[in-house]
Amino acid sequence: MPHSLFISDLHLSADHSGSMAAFQRFIAEVAPQAEALYILGDLFEYWAGDDDLNDEFHARVITALRSLLRHGTRVCLLHGNRDLLMGQALAEACHATLLHDPTLIDLYGMPTLLSHGDILCTGDTEYQRYRAQVHDAAFQQQFLARPLAERKAYIEQLRSRSTTEKQGKDSVIMDVSDAAVAALLREYRYPRLIHGHTHLPDCHEHVVDGHRCERWVLGDWHQQGSALRCDKQGCVAILV
Ligand code: MN
Repeated sequence: MPHSLFISDLHLSADHSGSMAAFQRFIAEVAPQAEALYILGDLFEYWAGDDDLNDEFHARVITALRSLLRHGTRVCLLHGNRDLLMGQALAEACHATLLHDPTLIDLYGMPTLLSHGDILCTGDTEYQRYRAQVHDAAFQQQFLARPLAERKAYIEQLRSRSTTEKQGKDSVIMDVSDAAVAALLREYRYPRLIHGHTHLPDCHEHVVDGHRCERWVLGDWHQQGSALRCDKQGCVAILV
C-alpha cells in the first residue's frame, strides 16, 4: 500500500557507527518501499554549515539519501535544533526538499502538521531564548561567515555545556507543553501532528475546541530505532 515514513533524531555522527549502520540498512531495505521519507530534524548530531558537505562521513549520509531517487522515494528534510543550519546546497546534494517548521501536508487525505517539536517545549524558557537567537537570520549569517573549523569548535563546546545543563533539568520542562500543542493545532485548524525532539515516542490525543487530534511523537534513532509508517488507514510505529 502507498505509504510514507517519518523518522527524526538520528543524531548521525562519525562517532556512532551503530546509528549510521542502522540508517544505511533502513535506507537500503525499508525506505525504498515508501513514496516519501520525512526526516523531522536532527538527522545529524550537528551541522556547522553547507561548506561541510565534503566531509567524508557527511558524504556517506548524502550518498545514502541520494540512492532513494532511483526508487522514486521523495526525501523531505526538516531542521532540528542540532542541524538548523542545513541549507539548500545540502538539500540539493541529497535530492531532498527542505521544509519549514512547521509544515502542513495532506497525508493520504488527512491534514498532517510536521514539526521538529522543540518549538513546543515552551516550559524551558532558557532554551526558547537560545532558540530565538539561533533562528535569527542575522545571527546565522554572522555565524556562517566564521571559518568552518571555528564554527565546529564552537558547536562542540556548546554541546558539552548543554549535556551538563540537561542533566539538571526537570523532565516535565523538557517535554512539550500541552498549551503550546493546543495553540499550534488551533492555528492549523486541528490537523494530526507528527514531531520528534523529545525522544518520548508515543501517540497522544488532544481535544482542542472539540476536535480530536492525534499527536505522534517519534523516538530517537540510536536507543529506540523507531519510525512511523503512515498510509490512508492511519499511522503505526515500526521498529527499524
Ligand atoms: Mn532535537
